[in-house]
Amino acid sequence: MKQLSTPPRRRHLRGWTATAIVLGVISMAGTPTAESAEWKSGIPWQEPKTIDPGPPGGPPADAIVLFDGKDLSQFEGGQQWLIRDGCAVCQGGGITTKQAFGDCQLHVEWASPSEVKGSGQGRGNSGVYLMGRYEVQILDSYDNPTYFDGQCGSIYKQSPPLVNVCRKPGEWQTFDVIFEAPRFDDQGQLTQPATMTVLHNGLLIQNHFELLGSTAWHEPPKYHAHPPKLPLHLQNHGNPVRFRNIWIRELKQRVTPKTEEIAEEGEDE
Ligand code: MG
Repeated sequence: MKQLSTPPRRRHLRGWTATAIVLGVISMAGTPTAESAEWKSGIPWQEPKTIDPGPPGGPPADAIVLFDGKDLSQFEGGQQWLIRDGCAVCQGGGITTKQAFGDCQLHVEWASPSEVKGSGQGRGNSGVYLMGRYEVQILDSYDNPTYFDGQCGSIYKQSPPLVNVCRKPGEWQTFDVIFEAPRFDDQGQLTQPATMTVLHNGLLIQNHFELLGSTAWHEPPKYHAHPPKLPLHLQNHGNPVRFRNIWIRELKQRVTPKTEEIAEEGEDE
């Protein structure tokens, strides 16, 4: 009679064989064996610089401190603002850094007035203008509705924040901004838009957003060719917003080693 099924003993052996293969694969994936070796990229990266990050909130050792609670001497127009209890309070007009910046990491601490006055865009309004023309909105957006691409943390009239993480009026808040300046060619044509990543109170609210141009109140966004570095501007919108602990780090493009260098270096590994 023809055998139609596998005998019990052979089924048993086949089961053990399958188990052994599975265990072997797991073993090879998890730990080095005589047959495998660690993979390394072989790219001859430069060693990353060691930077003292400073206390929580900074400033780190390689930052340019724009305001440390004492004076606004780093800003044109700084004498207009009131310095009180280690804070700078908006009044009189906007202030603009004496130094120009391009790609940067910026830390700003601010607080909207504890006494709530006005509503919508008229409540705790200020702003951080990268290159004097790309605004991250400062606004008291704690229980204060307004148009979404104008609320706190918006890239003004271009991108609402991903979430609203505004603290109560009067409480200190943080903005951490990673900004890449736009690039223009010799004819003034845009070759690379500006991008912004923003953390508000430590939470991501803008994720590498590509700006459509400057963030004007009265016209649609549009790029106008400008130098690779321009001053940073803090807005006075008529509300006594307070600032403290402002620092900035200039960012350099990292140079990736060329392919032929990779090949040559890799041969020695
Ligand atoms: Mg504003």
